[in-house]
Formats: sequence, C-alpha cells, structure tokens
Amino acid sequence: LRRLEKQRVLKYYNQQGQEVDENGKIKPDNANLFRLIGLAKPESGLLTAGMISMLVSSAVQVIAPLYFGKVVDAALESMASLNRTVLTLLGIYMAGAVSSLFRAYLFTLAGQRLVARLRTRLFSSVVEQEVAFFDVNRTGELCNRLSSDTAVLQNAITVNVSMLFRYLLQILGSLALMFYLNAALTGVLLAIVPVVSLGATQYGKFVRKMRKQFQDRLAEAGTQAEEALSSVRTVKSFTGEEKAIEVYGNFVQESYKVGKKLALAQGTFEGLFSLLAYGAIAAVLWYGGKLVYDNAQNPSDGITAGLLTSFLLYTLQVAMGFALLSSLYGDFMQAVGASVRIFTLLDRKPDVFVPPNPLTLGTLSGEIEFKDVRFTYPSRPESEVLKGVTFEVEKGQMVALVGPSGGGKSTIVSLIERFYDPNEGSIRMDGCDLKLLDLAWFRQKVAAVSQEPTLFACSIRDNIAYGREATDEEVEDAARQANAHDFICGFEDGYKTLVGERGVRLSGGQKQRVAIARALIMNPTLLLLDEATSALDAESEHLVQEAIDRAMRGRTVIVIAHRLSTVRNANKVVVIDKGQIAEMGTHSELLARHGVYKRLVLRQLTAGNQGLVSH
Ligand code: ADP
Repeated sequence: LRRLEKQRVLKYYNQQGQEVDENGKIKPDNANLFRLIGLAKPESGLLTAGMISMLVSSAVQVIAPLYFGKVVDAALESMASLNRTVLTLLGIYMAGAVSSLFRAYLFTLAGQRLVARLRTRLFSSVVEQEVAFFDVNRTGELCNRLSSDTAVLQNAITVNVSMLFRYLLQILGSLALMFYLNAALTGVLLAIVPVVSLGATQYGKFVRKMRKQFQDRLAEAGTQAEEALSSVRTVKSFTGEEKAIEVYGNFVQESYKVGKKLALAQGTFEGLFSLLAYGAIAAVLWYGGKLVYDNAQNPSDGITAGLLTSFLLYTLQVAMGFALLSSLYGDFMQAVGASVRIFTLLDRKPDVFVPPNPLTLGTLSGEIEFKDVRFTYPSRPESEVLKGVTFEVEKGQMVALVGPSGGGKSTIVSLIERFYDPNEGSIRMDGCDLKLLDLAWFRQKVAAVSQEPTLFACSIRDNIAYGREATDEEVEDAARQANAHDFICGFEDGYKTLVGERGVRLSGGQKQRVAIARALIMNPTLLLLDEATSALDAESEHLVQEAIDRAMRGRTVIVIAHRLSTVRNANKVVVIDKGQIAEMGTHSELLARHGVYKRLVLRQLTAGNQGLVSH
C-alpha cells in the first residue's frame, strides 16, 4: 500500500477547481479551440449536412446583389426583360430560403445534442469528485458551469462556427464578384477596409476585456443569490432579507458600474464603426457615380447604373460581414474561457485513492480498527483534527463516541465512510485496510443516519429506497421498523407523499425516521449514527429512539452519543477531546475514573438536561 501511495501522482487544485502546480500557479490551460471543436465529433454528420445547406444559402446571398443590379438595368431596357429577371431572382431566393431553413435547423439541433451530452458528462464528473472538493467549491459556482458555461460552448461550437464560415464565405464570395464586376472600384474599397477593420479589432479587444469583467461581476452576484436562496429559511429566521438584498445589491451594483462603462464603450464602438463604414460607402459612391457618369457620356467607358447598384450592395455585404466577424471573435473568446473551466472540471480526477485490485470480502463482520490515525482536512491544512486516534470496535458491538463539540467525532465517522482518507495511520475493516476495499461495495454495507438527515425532493417511498432498488413490501417493512409506517399512512398520499426540497414538508422527527428506514433497507453491517441532540418533542423522541434501538440490533454500531441511555448501553465509550482519545471504557468504568467523562456527565446532569455530554 505504501509503495502504491508513493507512486500516486499528486495533483493540486485551487479554489476554482483549476489544476495548479505546487506553487499555486495555474497550469497552462489544456483547452484549445481544437479540443473544443472535438467535442462536436458525434455531431459531425449533422454539422456536415448543415454546412452543405450553408454553402447553398451563402451562394444565394452572394449572387442576389448581382441580380439586383440586373433588375435595375432590365427595367431601363423593357418590361419583359424586367419580369424575367425578377422571376429568376425569386427562384434564387426560394432556394436560399429552403437552404437557410435546413442550415438553422441542423446547426441548432447539433448544438442541443452536444450540450445535452456535455451537461451530463460534466455533472457526472462533478458528482464523482471526492468530498473534500466540495469543501472548497461552492455549489452555486458548480451549477453555473453546468448551466451557463455549457450554453456558451453550445453556441460557440455550432452556431458561431457556422456563422464564422457563413461570413467568411459571404466576404470572399462578394469580393470575388466585385473584382469580376469592376477591379478598379474594388481597389478603392480594399484600400479603406483594412484601416476600418484594424481599428475595429483593436477597439474590439478593449470592449471584450470589459465584457469579461462584467461577466465576472455578474457571476459573483449569481453565487450570492444562490447561497441566500438555498438557505432561505436561515435568512428569514434571522430576518436577514435586508442584509441579503444589500449584499446581492452591492454585487449587482458592481456589475452595473462595469456595465455602464461597457455600454459607453459599445456605443462608441458602433458609432465609430458606422462612421468608417459609411465613409467607405460614400467613397465608393463617389467613384462609382463618376463611372456611371462616364458611361452616360460614352457607353464604352465606365459602368451601368445597375452594376453600381450591385456593387454598392456587395460593399454593404462585405462591411457587414467584417462587422459580424468581429463580434464573433468576442463570442469565441468567451467560449474559450468557458471551455477552460469546463475542461478542468471534466479532466479532474477525483482525489480518492483507488487500489489496482479493489477487494470485496465474502462477508463483512463489521470489525473496525483505528490505528494511530492522523487527519487534517485538505481545506484547512493548518490544523490537524485527529492526532493519533487508536481504538477497536468488535463485531456486533455498539461504541459510543462522546466528548466536547469540535473534538473530532464527526470526523471519525466521515473517515469510516471514507469521505476522506487518513493522512497517517490506518483504518481496518475486518483486518483489511479500508483503502484496499472496493469503495462502492463497502458503502453498500454501511449506512449512516445523521442528526439532520437530508432527504431528496421526491416521494417518501423513493427516499426510503434511495440506496437500492426495493419492492413496496421492503419499503414498508423498513418504514415499520423505523416507526415511520404509521405517520406515512396518515398522509393522504401515503408513501407517494412528496417531502419537498430537503424534506421541508416533514417534521424533524419524521425526517429522522424516514432516514432510519432509508438506512435499514440497506441491511447494513455497520450503522453510523449521529444522535439528535434535543430538537424533537417527547413523543417524537420516543419513537425515534425506539426505531434506533431496533435498528442497532445485530449490527456493529458507532454512535455519536448525546444521551445517557445510549452511553449506558454501549459496549465501549470513547471520549474524544481535541482530536485525541481522552478516555476509553464502559460507562461505569469511566465514571469510576473521575476524569473528563465524569465531569461531562455531571455537568449534563446538573444542567438538568437529559441530553448528554457534548454540544
Ligand atoms: P465533533 O463532531 O466532535 O463536534 P468535528 O469532527 O465535526 O467535531 O470537527 C472537528 C474539527 O474539524 C473542528 O475544528 C471543525 O471545525 C473541523 N472540521 C469539521 N469539518 C470540516 C471540514 N469539512 N473542513 C474543514 N474543517 C472541518
């Protein structure tokens, strides 16, 4: 095991989940446009068909202005010629309309398919991360990546790529035709365009930087809102609405400040750009007008009015093509930003030790051995939480963890669930290091009931059967054992009753009993319990206690105990204080010792509180 651990490549991540080197510097990003486009591989069929439609629609767009000019000249010629030309133009437009339909449909469809796949992949990558990852990454931010970052990518890879090609084709095709129509006039235009586009690109960079700032501010505000709304009860019970509004308002204000500048910059950009573009058109108009004038004087010179019309339309088309191209650039940059965030998440391997051959044992008896376990939370490297903890739990025993709050009891339970691995020392299960066991297999053998169980926003039945597929009988049986059957039947919808987000529609005691049923249905070898301190009323308390007592039978149980009755029944009481075992023994042995434990018990008794020992 030690050898394996040495080989393990250490990876570091910053608070945003980006991979960094030992010094905290972000590694050169592994996201590039190619990888981005590679994401769309499964959609290549759709995209190719879309491209073909796009070629047709672009061709129509390039040819149409030519016919505009022809219409003008035909009108000057005869009515029959006018009718013929307009009909041809209509035919061309029809082809354009059909191909545009397919182009838009195919590209959007490809985008939707891609983003649906990407979201699922991303979510699965996030949910697979180790628990410590969620200690440092905020839920709001992660949800943001799932929703908005993926949407940005969707647009970039499909719609924006298609627009890029469309505009390029439009520009190149128009320019080619312009050269064909009149090279001199095109020369005049081309002398002006680079100046305009260079200015536009430079200014565009500046605007983009501001847009990025704006997005960042907005994301911060979003995270604040998510936090406040997801804990709206806490906000309200402390009448924190105003504070929440103020905090959120401040962030929005910050984004508004940037937004104000952005508005001005964008306005200036558009103004300047139009000025230059129209200047170019005026120049072409003057020179073109002169050519038409020449033609009127001498038909072998210059160009016809129709040709000038076509030419002007091409000029507009080229100018528009350039303008739209520059706006696309911003979208692509945004997509690269989003892709960096998405790829780092997609690539992130959960920092969990996985043995080359994960073991499953025939049966698990539930024997546990902690040996010199030291542990520090990765999110708080400066303080060691467990400082050499050694104890044993025999098969079928009930061991109570007691001690002052913050001593490390919950941490011990988290380590048994393998939410984290010890930094030093080992935890053994039936004599086998926990790390060598197949994690999914092991977790099926362990069930935990916490003080404040989290239920999901689905039916009671689905909550109870969360850990495994179960028949209605099994669900009911588990509910009966957990003293939950009666109250569930009292609901109009029975087991189909929806419990609301995080179980808000159930009382504390009811939630606990549903959580006990959810644990029992797994028929776990090892039961991890965190006794509720006080919140329950006497009736509920009794029912919960009865359910817990029943659940403990025939299992190895580790309980973070708060009640005298529990510790009295325990085979062993382990007193945890400041990350170390202060005392260990049975309730009566420990009382006889006149140590920490006795002081805790006495304090609890004199306080007239039936709860025991900690918190
Ligand atoms: P107890 O269950 O005895 O009250 P805990 O195991 O919850 O104690 O906490 C032990 C110490 O670890 C405390 O100082 C607590 O602040 C810290 N701690 C608990 N959970 C985390 C976490 N997820 N990240 C960082 N520190 C934590």
